[in-house]
Amino acid sequence: MTREEYLKTKYYECYDEYIAKYKEFYANPSIARIEPFKIADGLYYVGDRKVCIHLIDTGDGLILIDSGYIGAAHLLVDSIWRAGFDPKNVLWIIHTHGHYDHFGASDEFRRMYGTKLAISKVDAESVRLKPHRAHVNKDSFPYAKIPAFDYEIEDGEIFKLGNVEIRCILTPGHTDGVLSLFFNVTDNGNTYLAGLFGGAGVRALTLPYIWYNESFTDCPQQMLNSIEKIWNEPVMVHLGNHPYNNRTIEKREKQLKEGGNPFISPDSWHIFLGDLKEKVEKIIKDNKELEKKFTE
Ligand SMILES: [Zn+2]
Repeated sequence: MTREEYLKTKYYECYDEYIAKYKEFYANPSIARIEPFKIADGLYYVGDRKVCIHLIDTGDGLILIDSGYIGAAHLLVDSIWRAGFDPKNVLWIIHTHGHYDHFGASDEFRRMYGTKLAISKVDAESVRLKPHRAHVNKDSFPYAKIPAFDYEIEDGEIFKLGNVEIRCILTPGHTDGVLSLFFNVTDNGNTYLAGLFGGAGVRALTLPYIWYNESFTDCPQQMLNSIEKIWNEPVMVHLGNHPYNNRTIEKREKQLKEGGNPFISPDSWHIFLGDLKEKVEKIIKDNKELEKKFTE
């Protein structure tokens, strides 16, 4: 079997399965709705069960981290209102990476509220050059398109607004230009470092995906380097990119039942990064096996 045949059969088959899994959500995004909630002072969860969206109140305007699927844009607007804010005060959306499930609602949001859109310079260039990398028009959401970004963030840049400084660290792997974000929050008078690893899906590291996306073939190794790069960040408030990263939904349910703040945890960051590292190492092995099939 050639690479192309393999992609056509094995890869697209699993892609169809993947899309089928999402069909119900695409038809009715409100099945993924959850009530927005406060994580710490000035930090709110306004995402759904599929994609994390965080709102930061900087004291001088609001920032969103990601915007979710275009089909769920109405849920986002509703969640911002229900969290006690006016969407027109969202000045920026910072995107963790250039995939349509993270920027899907951004263009619509900007049209309605004049919000500006930011992403890493690397991912802005990557999706401009090869739009198929953003997975636009690859599923049942034909309306998703890549927005023109207003601002491109460099590695290590500090994004300042009001009383908030967000440290933006380039952590490639899932895409070439994943941004991981770090900023201080307070809760009950204590200051904590909040941290978000901006792209943790490991399917993007598998060889067929790499071929299809024309990604760098060493992106699994890049992900390992990225994990090492941010391993020592003393994160106490671990935020997810998708809810499964930091067990967002479980933590919220625990909080509703038992009170307290399960989002403040000295362990969550390293449990997540440790698990991720194991998964990536396994993929590196699997990729080597598969590569052999096509080179022998
Ligand atoms: Zn992604």
